[in-house]
Amino acid sequence: MAGTEFYGAEERKEVNDVLETGIFFRFNHDAQRNGIWKAREFETEVAKLVGAKYAHAVSSGSTAVSCALASAGIGAGDEVIVPPFTYIATIEAVIFAGALPVFAEIDETLCLSAEGIKKAITPKTKAVCLVHMCGQMANMDEIMSVINEHNLILVEDAGQALAASYNGISTGLWGKTGCYSFDFFKIATAGEGGVMVTNDENAYKLADNYSDHGHDHIGNNRGMENHPVLGFNFRISELHAAIGLVQTRRVPMIRENNNKHKKLLMNELGKIDGLGFATIPDPNGDSATFLNLLLPNTMAAQSVVDEFNKNGVSGFNYWYTNMYHFINQWGHIKNGHVAAKTNIQLLGAPQDYNNLDLPKTQETVGRLISFGIKASWSDNEVNSLAEKISICIKSVLNQHV
Ligand SMILES: *Cc1c(COP(=O)(O)O)cnc(C)c1O
Repeated sequence: MAGTEFYGAEERKEVNDVLETGIFFRFNHDAQRNGIWKAREFETEVAKLVGAKYAHAVSSGSTAVSCALASAGIGAGDEVIVPPFTYIATIEAVIFAGALPVFAEIDETLCLSAEGIKKAITPKTKAVCLVHMCGQMANMDEIMSVINEHNLILVEDAGQALAASYNGISTGLWGKTGCYSFDFFKIATAGEGGVMVTNDENAYKLADNYSDHGHDHIGNNRGMENHPVLGFNFRISELHAAIGLVQTRRVPMIRENNNKHKKLLMNELGKIDGLGFATIPDPNGDSATFLNLLLPNTMAAQSVVDEFNKNGVSGFNYWYTNMYHFINQWGHIKNGHVAAKTNIQLLGAPQDYNNLDLPKTQETVGRLISFGIKASWSDNEVNSLAEKISICIKSVLNQHV
């Protein structure tokens, strides 16, 4: 699943390069840094992996979402369609951009559906912030046709879907801007870090300026460069970038192993009557960080979770009740608990966040149990997990074990 499964000599070497020079800052200091530019190398590596024209590394996946929104021109008062199933960072980034999140339905892809987006569109809708969940990808053909038909801006939070793609195009590169997270739990980690990608030169330049107080990074006189726009500090350090760089190089190997393990598990578990899987719109583009099981209904899923716990089966997430990735757990948004006023309080919420009508989402997340897949598993470990899962599910669904 995660980059943290593999680390060692290569990370030490890259970090050491930085420690030798003592230049932990990603810009300037050309004479002292001895040709060591880890953030730049990290960006080149990510751009190469996903096929992006431009990549810009920042301090976290969350700040990468902020850069993606700002450089796509999304700001105060704009309505942005978002999923109710995502890591909360997506929603926070929209709110702290001054924009107003509008929740729409997901479907069995675990991502916003084209139909859900269509229903949530109002005359004030400016953009869609699409999240590719659980290592998989949204149905991009259908979504792009709604985006184009309604002239909306697409921003992709591919925080969980680095190295996933649809029809050969990486998640993150379908919209104006996209981004990935390199936090501790992702397919590649920098410790903390994030990368924004785009094929749009102007959006790239804006992100580069915005993430460093507006500096345009032209020339070598920090402070007296030009400052085309107002920005803030979302910079990544050279030490984090050094780790992210090595981890990015390992992603193709991890993706390949993950896919092998996910296919084995799906083959075995696919034999169970009544058990389904989340829809994968392009199975060739799966990053396969998660095996996503869909039980017949929420009650069955909850019983399976109990059965797993009783039998010592671990390594799964039941997002519906146990994780901070689902709207049912976001009491602060629903009840307007903020440290300081946001545009939701100033302009009014575009929806009644406490009474959202999202039956398809409730039903889908209620049925979903996701297992993190490890690239380092042996075939034996995969087979034994398949067997344990199978026994628990069959006993809940009252099938012969
Ligand atoms: C992890 C994640 C983020 C936030 O990334 P951080 O690096 O932890 O800030 C944003 N969006 C999604 C979908 C994520 O999974």
